Amino acid sequence: MKKEGKELLFLVPVCMHNIWGGVKLREDFGYPVEGDGIGECWGVSAHPEGDGTVRDGAYKGRKLSELWAEHPELFGNLQYDRYPLLTKIIDAQDDLSIQVHPDDAYARKNENGSLGKTECWYIMGCKEDATIVIGHNAKDREELKQMVAEGRWQELIREIPIHKGDFIQIDPGTVHAIKADTLILETQQNSAITYRLYDYGRLQNGKPRELHIEKSLDVITVPAKSAEESVESISNLPENTLNQIYTCEKYTVFKMDVNGSAVFEQSYPFLAASVLEGDGSVDGSEVHKGDHFIIPNGYGKVEMNGSMSLILSTVER
Ligand code: ZN
Repeated sequence: MKKEGKELLFLVPVCMHNIWGGVKLREDFGYPVEGDGIGECWGVSAHPEGDGTVRDGAYKGRKLSELWAEHPELFGNLQYDRYPLLTKIIDAQDDLSIQVHPDDAYARKNENGSLGKTECWYIMGCKEDATIVIGHNAKDREELKQMVAEGRWQELIREIPIHKGDFIQIDPGTVHAIKADTLILETQQNSAITYRLYDYGRLQNGKPRELHIEKSLDVITVPAKSAEESVESISNLPENTLNQIYTCEKYTVFKMDVNGSAVFEQSYPFLAASVLEGDGSVDGSEVHKGDHFIIPNGYGKVEMNGSMSLILSTVER
């Protein structure tokens, strides 16, 4: 079923292999990707390294980047030069390297006009007593430089406990890393600029992976935001409601837990939606865990049925 002149844009995601990835994205989510070490599913992406394709309907076969360029009305005719967001599911079976991202100004100047990267994580699953790397313990830039130069990583890196249902905002300049056995939904700016600060001394094909110490030291925020301010639990939100969980200059993120029937108005430029768990339908289209779709501009009333959890995102006009 579709509404007159407006249809949901379901996307075929692009999966990525990573040395730290697992097999959940194939085995639990059913994405058709071979091999082990599947670290990322780029669910709603128009990035050149992983540009999603429309799965069916009037725009079947078109890339999201093409739709953005050719049909700006679907996204509310926004003043951005590219689709501004990137939604990923990340399955870490091993610890990821410890990273930091630049902001737009630094990236524009030092990374060929790329956007910087602000991102946020919703913890879909993790083991008991799980932790995540967020922030650092250096009190000023001098101490930061010294700790890095002396390799005092244990002292420098701050690890804090996480649980399923936590939300973590990662502003540019925030030292961060996902640890093993963590499944997250990431909403981020459409950018892949990452500076690797520390890789636990690991080797890949007998060699350490490249680090970006100088650039990391340029962009790391000192002192870091407090541990308490870094992680927020957002379990126990009202059901069948589009709950706004975070908003900043780069994106607004919502959580929606459908149990039975939910109706809301799509009054945003667009809504990018990812089904994290469960099954149901959206205006008569069946949806399952792992589906990603865009509810276009001007869509109006949205009716969801079933039992499922979604994360949705948009940007400001
Ligand atoms: Zn990151």
